[in-house]
Amino acid sequence: MYYLSEHIGRREALKRIFKAIAAVGASQFISFEDILAAEAVPARDKPHVIWLHGSSCSGCSISFMNIEYVPVIDILTQFTRVVFHPDLSLATGEQVPALIDELVRSKRPYLFVFEGGIPEGMPHACLMADKPITEWVDLLASRAQACIAAGTCATMGGVPKMPGTVTGSMTLEEYLNKRNIKVDLVNLPNCPMKPEHFVYTLLHLIKTGTFPALDNDKRPLKFFAHTVHERCIFYSSFQEHRFAQHVGDDGCLLKLGCQGPVTKNDCLITGHNGNTNTCIRAGHPCIGCASRQFPRQVMFHINREASSGGGSST
Ligand code: SF4
Ligand code: SF4
Repeated sequence: MYYLSEHIGRREALKRIFKAIAAVGASQFISFEDILAAEAVPARDKPHVIWLHGSSCSGCSISFMNIEYVPVIDILTQFTRVVFHPDLSLATGEQVPALIDELVRSKRPYLFVFEGGIPEGMPHACLMADKPITEWVDLLASRAQACIAAGTCATMGGVPKMPGTVTGSMTLEEYLNKRNIKVDLVNLPNCPMKPEHFVYTLLHLIKTGTFPALDNDKRPLKFFAHTVHERCIFYSSFQEHRFAQHVGDDGCLLKLGCQGPVTKNDCLITGHNGNTNTCIRAGHPCIGCASRQFPRQVMFHINREASSGGGSST
């Protein structure tokens, strides 16, 4: 609670952390007493977390840090010791390999979070401390207690793997399989990853020692059991064949290329920026950002023909 308690006092800070935990659904298994107990644990004894970026825009981390109802660093520092995070940590240059070396030599269990694609076909396309990111993934994933693949690039391919790219980008799961690295993995797709999904998954792992129930793509069923379409505010418009003709119109967005019917995610339950809004509520078709088809080469809704109604997506 380094930031919050400085500004609003410890009691209010704890209350806000609990509210945030309740908002992501984790109060089912994390009680207020757990927060107090975590506060009493010295940092060196908390579960260790190390977070690296591959080929990424850092959007998942930025989205994570922008969670509005509580500074995310307070949740992280309450429950974990963050060994290194490229955007949060002060460590730079030679300090980073030294921190990683210390972590590996300590043989402490740690959670490895990976954001972005892995340019397996062009390893020098992504370096950290003069070494390809592939070498860091080999080192850290093989010794981790568990891995979290954060965001669509790390889980489904995303922008680094879209047609026409030349780096041979892989998801974390594809890379681990290719290197025959056996480690528990959870995939949290979304471009960017939703902080709520991460906080829930992290706290579940810390509290129970296991990931929440996963589907065949290693995604938590709590968030990815249903398509966007199944819970859509425009589902009745879809059934009544009332279709929007332009972005922002009222009505089902299918004829503008909506990918809701083929994209699993909980966007109409947990939106973005503290659930302020989400694509469809803002009148924009789902572009399937949590799927393997993202990004498509042609986004149907930006074609002129979309306004005349086509009904299918390219
Ligand atoms: S807007 Fe998209 S997700 Fe919603 S009902 Fe229409 S097709 Fe389904
Ligand atoms: S509605 Fe579709 S494009 Fe928008 S965040 Fe959800 S899955 Fe991604």
